[in-house]
Amino acid sequence: MLRVLVCDPIEYSAVRMLSSAGLQVDSRPDISGEELERVVASYNILVVRGRTKVTARVIEHGVPALKIVGRAGVGLDNVDLEAAAKHGVKVLNTPEAPTNSVAELVIGLMIAVARKIAWSDRVMRMGGWPKHEAMGVELHGKTLGVVGYGRIGRRVAEIAYAIGMRILAYDIISIPQEVLARAGAKLTTLEEVLTSSDFITLHVPLTAETRHFIDRERLALMKKTAILVNASRGEVVDEEALYEALAEGRLAGAGLDVFQREPPTGSKLLSLDNVVVTPHIGAQTLEAQELAATMLAEKILAELGLRA
Ligand code: NAD
Repeated sequence: MLRVLVCDPIEYSAVRMLSSAGLQVDSRPDISGEELERVVASYNILVVRGRTKVTARVIEHGVPALKIVGRAGVGLDNVDLEAAAKHGVKVLNTPEAPTNSVAELVIGLMIAVARKIAWSDRVMRMGGWPKHEAMGVELHGKTLGVVGYGRIGRRVAEIAYAIGMRILAYDIISIPQEVLARAGAKLTTLEEVLTSSDFITLHVPLTAETRHFIDRERLALMKKTAILVNASRGEVVDEEALYEALAEGRLAGAGLDVFQREPPTGSKLLSLDNVVVTPHIGAQTLEAQELAATMLAEKILAELGLRA
């Protein structure tokens, strides 16, 4: 019988799926690194979230029994991928799970900035009633530029289309016509996206090419009235250049879920009224966490040739 060790807290539905398929599942959601190294040799599959570090030592102690490391979630920074590849240990994760949650947060940030929700809340708590100063703009009828038309970018576009926005999309790969049609989107150049959009949302992965993708020159192409949202990775935006554009009134506002340094303690961006910030909570919903766990269980079972 194949044995699974669940090393981090994970939704019970995933445990149930694995055990119903005939696997023996042990849960040690607060297991220490040393203890994991001691017991890993008797398991075929490790299931982790972000807490447990699956180091080269853990993998070396685990083989030959250890075959799969499953990470419920996106980031694989806590798994030594080189060691896993060297020892033939398959690594699975669930980048699809947070798509809808991140997309909804992006829409939330767009509205929060456009309608000055966070700022109004702050002023009212201090006794103010900034009804006139809180004049905002609608999303309806505006143009949304989506940079990176992958899973999250497409979902944001679909919701925005339902709100009544016109969608411009930019990607380095070609996007099938039927996918664009779901949001009435036009695939175009980066320049058109940056110069013509009222809202711009970033959904590219962080790579060598996308580090500081939104720099001084590209910020300068945006409308003065534009609102920028970043829920991709902090390093995709040059924060210094963004601060200057916002502080000097060359950009109307920004909604940020991710930062070059997290938490962004002391960042000048936090001093600006036209910026709404959230602490990297794109995937922080009950639904996204549940989906990550059940998708991971499905992937593990598929890898083993078993059915859920
Ligand atoms: P995805 O791989 O489905 O889509 C990314 C898209 O970007 C692809 O279509 C790709 O072709 C395109 N792309 C890559 N390089 C590009 C470039 N140089 N120019 C233009 N397009 C480019 O990824 P996804 O699941 O949609 O995730 C998008 C981003 O969201 C990633 O940065 C991911 O790290 C981030 N993310 C954030 C959170 C959060 O909590 N805020 C949660 C999940 C994912």
